[in-house]
Amino acid sequence: MKRSDILLALKAETEEDVITRFPKRYIPLVPDSLALAPQDGAKLVLRGTIVSPQYLRGGQIIRFRIVNKEQREIQAMIFSQPFYRNILHMNVEYFFFGTYRSKRHALMISSVLRTDNPLVLNPYMPYYTLPSKVSQSSFYSYVLEILTNRSDYINEVLPLRYRKKYRLEERYKAFKDVHIPLSEETVKRGLRVFKYEEALSYCLYSLNEKMKASGIKKRKMLPIDRNLVNQFILHLPFKLTHDQIMAVKDIVVDMDSPHVMNRLLEGDVGTGKTIVAFITVYANYLRGGQSALLCPTLTLAEQHYQNALQVFKDYPLQIVLLDTSLSPGEKRNALEKIRNGNADLVIGTHASFSDDVEYKKLTYVIEDEQHKFGVAQRVKMADKGEGTDVLSMSATPIPRTMSMIVNSDMDVSALHEFPNRERKVESKVVKEDDPLIEKAIRRSLEIRHQVFVVAPKIGEGNSSRLSAESVYKDMVNAYGEENVGFLHGRMKKKDQQQVYDDFKNGRKLILVSTSVIEVGVDVSSASLMIVYEANYFGLASLHQLRGRIGRNGKGALALFVYDGEDNEALEKLTYLASHPSGEDIALYDLEQRGGGDLVSERQSGASLLQVANFVNDYQIFKCAREDAEEILHNLDDPQNASYYQSVLREVEKKEEEKENSAKR
Ligand code: ADP
Ligand code: MG
Repeated sequence: MKRSDILLALKAETEEDVITRFPKRYIPLVPDSLALAPQDGAKLVLRGTIVSPQYLRGGQIIRFRIVNKEQREIQAMIFSQPFYRNILHMNVEYFFFGTYRSKRHALMISSVLRTDNPLVLNPYMPYYTLPSKVSQSSFYSYVLEILTNRSDYINEVLPLRYRKKYRLEERYKAFKDVHIPLSEETVKRGLRVFKYEEALSYCLYSLNEKMKASGIKKRKMLPIDRNLVNQFILHLPFKLTHDQIMAVKDIVVDMDSPHVMNRLLEGDVGTGKTIVAFITVYANYLRGGQSALLCPTLTLAEQHYQNALQVFKDYPLQIVLLDTSLSPGEKRNALEKIRNGNADLVIGTHASFSDDVEYKKLTYVIEDEQHKFGVAQRVKMADKGEGTDVLSMSATPIPRTMSMIVNSDMDVSALHEFPNRERKVESKVVKEDDPLIEKAIRRSLEIRHQVFVVAPKIGEGNSSRLSAESVYKDMVNAYGEENVGFLHGRMKKKDQQQVYDDFKNGRKLILVSTSVIEVGVDVSSASLMIVYEANYFGLASLHQLRGRIGRNGKGALALFVYDGEDNEALEKLTYLASHPSGEDIALYDLEQRGGGDLVSERQSGASLLQVANFVNDYQIFKCAREDAEEILHNLDDPQNASYYQSVLREVEKKEEEKENSAKR
């Protein structure tokens, strides 16, 4: 492949862009892993030659034996890669990469490399994430070429002060250490440089965002009458928790300040974020502004709408639900109300907040379940007002110290207390035929408590527990049609609402659904949840799901059904079952996944992070955060200034790329 084609496919402008694509992982080349008794599913690397190849189905299946130096051998198969027929030879030594299948006692091969391929010359093989057009080998030979021939233009970027402070090696050497993996130590040494670079860029960028935002002046509003806010709070049917009061206070202070608010309201499911939103919507109304509440799903938007009607029933606020199923007339009417300022609170999904919605004076935007939104959507909404205050609400509870770094472009208010005392949701991992499932459902029906039943997919297969549809049929057979409702995201919105209302009001006691109910749905007397094929869901989702039950403070039971044998899945589910706290779940999840998705889409600046992650490199981030502050305070220093500029340019470039690829 030509160099210029590689550059094009990678969307790289310079050769430095090429070598800043770091290996995703390193595969240890232990060439005699045959000696160990491999387990089913084990990934093996073998070094050996090919014996008695057979080509079946025109080369769609290639079967042969691999023999290694010690004359050990194993059966091997290559599926659907007929081109190997022409390039594999007998009497030549190769590295074979594949998955061991104990049933056939054979290696299912994914790729084969000659032993003189530069990728396999070191004790570890670097493995890159590449566009499908670019092969590992052609990319790597380009990388090596750059690293061997053209060292002169790899410049240092970090201010000298910080390179010295952490004794970071030269950048050129670091590139070599990372791409040419001689040992674990050398790789680590090289990565340290880039991890620090990334962490520092991230902190610098997000602190800069925060500064920028707080520099935006808001239009002048009426001062908020705290007495009226207090009266509103006293008028609620319950007493706020201490954390809720503090959060309201934070927000009201921000609203009154001349600077734009960008605040995160963090709290586990059930800590009561919604009411904090409503109270502050009222405060915003008092200062003369319109509020918009964005939800990730329509079900949630509708629930918030009903809830808002209730909360504001004794107040003159006008509330509008921007539902995608509104008739054209209703829609025109709603839009008019928003435009002329009569609508004080507008609730909808982000799909419903399209460009044709114009506000008279939008001054407060709240996004519920913020982690479900992309940054772009958020920015777009805030653009509809001038100097709009933004509150993001999220149930991804991470330790406060970590949150300060991850979310360093925002201020954070956190809800730790649960209003209904500690909610008691007992969780269990069960097999599909566990009699407990039926017993628990019968018991719920007796005491007329609602039951959520969740499956990962809408339909698919007939008898499978993957399919909500077939689970629904089984439930109808077992408990009668009159008791069971069915909800999924592809139903008509009107029907969704009907099903949901029936369930909420107890007309139907069992609701079979997909994970559409994951976010925010609040049915206080639901006390049983059954999740089929639970391993299909991420931990965070499962925790959200069980947060739907036990909301009345009485006992509740969540059953995660899993019949598989996958140890990892079992471990994950068992952890979930034995840890009720969202913070524990979030941390476990973070450790498993390195915290990438913590920032992934929602956080601007995340595009800067390739090798650094918040969990494993937390200490690096902590240092970087302090250094970033120092740099921002000392921009007179030319090294600091030029570094700062280069970081801003880089983010701009990355954001542009992302936007362009989103458009495509
Ligand atoms: P989440 O933080 O998960 O969005 P919600 O806002 O949906 O939680 O609140 C969960 C439930 O707790 C709701 O039914 C809500 O009315 C109730 N609630 C919220 N705050 C309090 C409180 N201070 N005392 C009693 N119940 C409360
Ligand atoms: Mg909520």
